[in-house]
Amino acid sequence: MGYAEVSVNSPIAQRRTFSYAIPSGLSIDVGQAVWVPFGDKLLQGIVLELTDYPSVEETREIAGVIEPPLLLSPPYVLLARWLSEHYLSPLFDAVALMLPPGFERKALTFISVLLIPHDFDLSSLTPEQRHALELVQRQGKVSLRQLEKVLGKKKAQTVVSQLVGRGLVVRSYELGPIRVKPKYERYLSLKVKASEARQEAARLHKRKAIRQATLLNFLAQQSKPVSWVEVRQRVNCNKTVADALVNKGLVEVQQIEVKREPISYRGITSSEPLTLTNAQKSAFQSIQSSLPKTAKGQTSPAVFLLHGVTGSGKTEIYLQALAEAIKLGKRGIVLVPEIALTPQAIERFASRFPHKVAVLHSKLSLGEQFDEWQRIRNGECDVVIGPRSAIFAPQPDLGLIVIDEEHEWTYKQDTSPRYHTRDVAIKLADLTGAVVILGSATPDVGTFYHAQRGDYRLLRLPERVTPSEGSSLPQVKVIDLRDELKAGNRSLFSRSLSQAIAKAVASREQVILFLNRRGAATFIQCRSCGFVLRCRRCEVPLTYHFTEDALVCHQCNYRMPVPQSCPRCLSRRIKFLGVGTQKLEREAGYTFSQARLLRWDSDVTRGKHSHQEILSKFRAHEADILIGTQMVAKGLDLPLVTLVGVVSADTSLNLPDFRAGERTFQLLSQVAGRAGRGVLGGQVIIQTYSPEHYAVRAAAKHDYASFYDKEITYRRQLHNPPFTRLACLTYSHANDALCQREAERMKRLLIEERDSRGIADLSLIGPAPAFIHRLRGRFRWQLILRGAKPSALLSQIPIPQGWTVDIDPVSMI
Ligand code: ADP
Ligand code: ZN
Ligand code: ZN
Repeated sequence: MGYAEVSVNSPIAQRRTFSYAIPSGLSIDVGQAVWVPFGDKLLQGIVLELTDYPSVEETREIAGVIEPPLLLSPPYVLLARWLSEHYLSPLFDAVALMLPPGFERKALTFISVLLIPHDFDLSSLTPEQRHALELVQRQGKVSLRQLEKVLGKKKAQTVVSQLVGRGLVVRSYELGPIRVKPKYERYLSLKVKASEARQEAARLHKRKAIRQATLLNFLAQQSKPVSWVEVRQRVNCNKTVADALVNKGLVEVQQIEVKREPISYRGITSSEPLTLTNAQKSAFQSIQSSLPKTAKGQTSPAVFLLHGVTGSGKTEIYLQALAEAIKLGKRGIVLVPEIALTPQAIERFASRFPHKVAVLHSKLSLGEQFDEWQRIRNGECDVVIGPRSAIFAPQPDLGLIVIDEEHEWTYKQDTSPRYHTRDVAIKLADLTGAVVILGSATPDVGTFYHAQRGDYRLLRLPERVTPSEGSSLPQVKVIDLRDELKAGNRSLFSRSLSQAIAKAVASREQVILFLNRRGAATFIQCRSCGFVLRCRRCEVPLTYHFTEDALVCHQCNYRMPVPQSCPRCLSRRIKFLGVGTQKLEREAGYTFSQARLLRWDSDVTRGKHSHQEILSKFRAHEADILIGTQMVAKGLDLPLVTLVGVVSADTSLNLPDFRAGERTFQLLSQVAGRAGRGVLGGQVIIQTYSPEHYAVRAAAKHDYASFYDKEITYRRQLHNPPFTRLACLTYSHANDALCQREAERMKRLLIEERDSRGIADLSLIGPAPAFIHRLRGRFRWQLILRGAKPSALLSQIPIPQGWTVDIDPVSMI
């Protein structure tokens, strides 16, 4: 007899598999979806391995194959294992990423009655037990859910257990209904010969049943069944008319499965490849030459970093590389940040590969997702496009994975498994032999470091491909807000920015005002010299805590009272900073009363206005000034925008995170890329108290190299990634003191384990309150592990309930 190691869909299964015997006559493969008994339940499982011997003495048998059969292909089985090991996530959480949408479902419990002995004394039962037994007796078999409706959930379960105990009823398990069903449409066809139908139509016509006659004649002309939707369009009839013909045995209704297609190709014309510029050509050729060479099991996957400023023609390279892969009989996946997955972005791919593009994202109905998944799996789509989870699309013959805007933080999943799409893509490429293209104008510092070291191949597109030679990257002006204060200007707008806004609005051009509002009023800054108080050990800005009236380091928990005067210039004008977009909107309304304003942030889009609505309103020039958070920075192409104002670069600069500089550089560069996309050209104005900060200076000069050099030096000095890896452990509990104690206990345990195992290069930072110290009534404390491979230690230690573990976190806040 053979055995299978199965990943079981149960929260208590955690990172392990369970051994099951394979009953004789059942053929099981690796990757197969099966039903397995687990405790007193029947659960879903995926077979990850076949073995000759079980890993435990006593095994139960696999109950059966889940219908319709599902088989994960070998690379995805390995990928699931890797995800669970690397991110320390429950195994089934990892497996679930690769299952078809709507796959996870439960077995339903049914209760049926056994023979009741003649001499059984019914009066020995409680009234509830009798009531339940009667219900079951009446129908022979009822679902537990039905009983729960009558008796209440708790009660039903107890009563059933009691009845089972007395040998009166038994439980059985059946598969729950599939939540996602293929979509069917009604089709009509004749049930009789066409000639017969015509005669019948003539008779109906005489009897004044005109509409029945017309429908019958129409169907007599068709060679195959016609959908009800089409019948309604072509013939004047309704359901009663059709039903009448069905009842007379003349017409037949069939349910025929139809495909839903989320991309509407109406209005999309096909596009031809553009003639590449020289820079594009040389980048393309490198990718082209690596596409046929790659094979499974090679030593390392081919990863390209395509570093090109906004508008440099990266997307055209993705398109041509995809075409090349398709020519070789392979397929591709294109990943974009969720917010960039606009109809325009989809259209660029859909028009190059008509009817061969699948889209996967959470806004589709479950049915649509299911259909797309099936189409992809059947090999019908050359290109799959979607946000991070699209990396798990079951694309056969995967040849190319593109990650656009690879530096985006949203590529990190924030629920278990907390994977980073880039790392998953590279692992998947390793398992399948696919090529990876990472594209960005402002590559992640870690990615660029790998490209510098030669782990990835660096391709550059230094120039914009613009319609007119003149409009290259926009001019960027940095305004020192301390000078404004000296001149007595206390408004949110510097003199330069006010003038530029007024001028743009007067010339009927458009303005974007950007303010990264995250972390409202948390850091404190001297309004005279711009000095921000930082932790002496961690270099991150100290965060103000209202409750204690103190400054706290959110990395190491260092604390100090709020100083009365600035430690640098002794000014007493120390201010809490934190201006939100709403306040900005109000001030802009006063200052530019003639301009029409539009605000775009998550507060607005949470309501009834979608991103798309706001964007198309602005595009249609129904507003002059668009005010927003980082949303306005992403991939918009707005030709009328000639001015972009960054109201405060300091908000992101002073977040208590070692990546604050990188984050600021990326945001400023992206925002700056919004201006001057059209023939009108454009300028960018950045307001800040830290004009000398390297991230601000580099962004103003569109100079990635100088930013990178500074940043990588700091990372090396402070032992931060990419020179080390991090793991962030967060404990949350309603009681703050308990939270802190548990975090301290965990730290002691980790140090003990580290030392007893002799792991040298692993340090523990904290515990400290998390940046968001209290979330939905629960306090949160954080502990950071930094070293060559923190997960190696963590995987050996039981992590109690209440902790979350984030391996390779992208944010410390
Ligand atoms: P990116 O993805 O780097 O932001 P895009 O691929 O969107 O850049 O290119 C910017 C603009 O330049 C687009 O309008 C695109 O159609 C155009 N473009 C790209 N490559 C070429 C080319 N080789 N010839 C002409 N126009 C091009
Ligand atoms: Zn000062
Ligand atoms: Zn500190």
